[in-house]
Amino acid sequence: HMADYQYNRVLLKISGEALMGEHEYGIDTETVTRIAGEVAAAHEKGLQIALVIGAGNIFRGLSAQATGIERSTADYMGMLATVMNALAMQSALEQIGVPTRVQSAIPMQTVCESYIRRRAVRHMEKGRVVIFAAGTGNPYFTTDTAAALRAAEMDCDALLKGTQVDGVYDSDPKTNPDAVRYETLSYHKVLSDDLKVMDASAIALMRENNIPIIVFSLQEMGALDAVMAGHGTSTIIK
Ligand code: UDP
Repeated sequence: HMADYQYNRVLLKISGEALMGEHEYGIDTETVTRIAGEVAAAHEKGLQIALVIGAGNIFRGLSAQATGIERSTADYMGMLATVMNALAMQSALEQIGVPTRVQSAIPMQTVCESYIRRRAVRHMEKGRVVIFAAGTGNPYFTTDTAAALRAAEMDCDALLKGTQVDGVYDSDPKTNPDAVRYETLSYHKVLSDDLKVMDASAIALMRENNIPIIVFSLQEMGALDAVMAGHGTSTIIK
């Protein structure tokens, strides 16, 4: 029942690397299908979900700049790569019966819709999953900031950051067995301690708009549904 859910409309940010599976590059269809299944399970309950997907599995502006490509151009290439990930996710979602629209911040009218806020809201109200592609449409930004921006624009109840780890720890849980997970953190602490959760600009935008950021693991089955219900393992930044 919807009343059992703490968050009814969320923006889920998925890093490009989450789509690689065991590979070192690119899109692992099996992994995309698994994550799509998580989204479908929550969508089935009537929850509204929008997605922002990064492109670290294909192309990153900063790394490309290091090889000699001019920064802004490299960033546009990175944004184009997010469109490929968005289309892969759309395909996976539609194959399991979830109606999906891709909206790109860089107009690409033969491939997908362009970003139109009110239209995106309408899609969500109609029960469609909206995937926001091409980041913010601007170089020098990241998809973290794009996710925060869209979460605010879409009036989401929370910004969910799906990662490989089930929250934010006081030290690296992969190397330190005594690492402790924070249940909650303040926006301020994340910024002042420079905790590597999301870009500072994304955190600041969520702080200004009072939207909680929930860090959780996309590896666990049913985690998305659990987080939206207000339980499940996570760190809540508020
Ligand atoms: N990018 C950009 N502006 C944006 C979003 C992304 O220029 O608003 C570019 C940037 O080059 C970035 C790349 O797209 O490196 C991929 O995004 P990101 O690094 O955020 O992906 P993730 O780390 O989440 O996989």
